[in-house]
Amino acid sequence: MHVDELLYAMRSGTPQRPEHIEAFVRGVVDGSVSRPQAAAWLAWAFTRGLDDSETVALTRAMTDTGHVMRWPDGPELVDKHSTGGVGDKVSLVLAPLWAELGLRVPMISGRGLGHTGGTLDKLESIPGFRTDLDDAELGVVLADVGCFISGQTASVAPADKVLYALRNETCTVESIPLIVGSILSKKLAEGVQRLVLDVKTGSGAFMKSLDDSRALAEALVRVARGAGVDCTAHITAMDRPLGRAVGNALEVEESMACLKGEGPADLHELVVALAGHPRADEVLRSGAAWPRFEAMVAAQGGDRRTLHGRLRDQAGVREHVLCAAEAGIVQAVDAGGIGRAAFVLGAGRRRAEAPVDFGVGCVLHVVPGDRVGAGQPLVTLHVRDQGVEEATQLARAALPIGDAPPQVPPLIAATVGI
Ligand code: URA
Repeated sequence: MHVDELLYAMRSGTPQRPEHIEAFVRGVVDGSVSRPQAAAWLAWAFTRGLDDSETVALTRAMTDTGHVMRWPDGPELVDKHSTGGVGDKVSLVLAPLWAELGLRVPMISGRGLGHTGGTLDKLESIPGFRTDLDDAELGVVLADVGCFISGQTASVAPADKVLYALRNETCTVESIPLIVGSILSKKLAEGVQRLVLDVKTGSGAFMKSLDDSRALAEALVRVARGAGVDCTAHITAMDRPLGRAVGNALEVEESMACLKGEGPADLHELVVALAGHPRADEVLRSGAAWPRFEAMVAAQGGDRRTLHGRLRDQAGVREHVLCAAEAGIVQAVDAGGIGRAAFVLGAGRRRAEAPVDFGVGCVLHVVPGDRVGAGQPLVTLHVRDQGVEEATQLARAALPIGDAPPQVPPLIAATVGI
């Protein structure tokens, strides 16, 4: 089928055959489908939607036109993916925890874009830590440590690189089938047997409403299972940040505390729920997963000695404490506002290739529903010279104080696929 026939079929709403979708994706990768043609297809997919069989075909084709990792026989291969949030450092804790529980975790992660952080940026605040391991190095770390967290190699899901950039340019990002294809094509390329998804919901998430988050979670689970991977999805709160720390090095420090059994309650609870293992709580509480994290850092080139002090680039960072102007009850800790505050301080990036400041960010002292007195600290901003005034305004607006106890959504709103 020629690509223009595919575009006509898309326009008229005719179902697309799997082999036609596959030919289209191959054409995107080898350049025989032009960028305007790919953009037109995305626009039609965005407006008309794709059914499940079309989404499975798209996901499979996006995976199979790239390199799919293969691992030797051994313990179960499992990974987790989050749709992105503020203060979401779960991967840093969960990967070594799973490894300590005897599973293998080949985790390919991404960088932050917009106000949500990226796991790779956080880990790169550890001096020497490499996120660009090649396939041979990934195999060695997985065999020796039981887990790695590294970046997407050039050959993994190359169609997604082209389509994702085009989606950004053509405002077709917020489409459930296109998000499903994009996320799962990269995860299926890891060669995992089981996938746990953390679909965030609320002001700091991609999907703001519970209904949209549920629709995305259900589609991800159906399509992952359709592609032969055992999958469950948890829909979790992102109206407020996860944990207390937001910003790269600050989040690594909080993750390390959690690995020693000393993390904030919500982070601990979510890691244990996503781990889905009867011993997860006990192992995390005992600190037994901490040496596994140290081993992963060392195996990926990181300087483990720095894990015992303050991490890179926090020198020269000043601390600004914002306090409650009046006594009352913290009504909300708005994740979107706190994420944007950290972003304008330099913790995030506006363009994919821009650098991040590892040292800056926010450390919260309150959670929604806390009672505070006038003058009590609400949040400490870790700042350099960039964006201090704007971040102060954003953080203040994100922490309203009132009289009545607020309704706080549960940390885990629903689980799909059990
Ligand atoms: N994350 C991805 O990798 N792709 C999307 O489309 C959305 C979030």
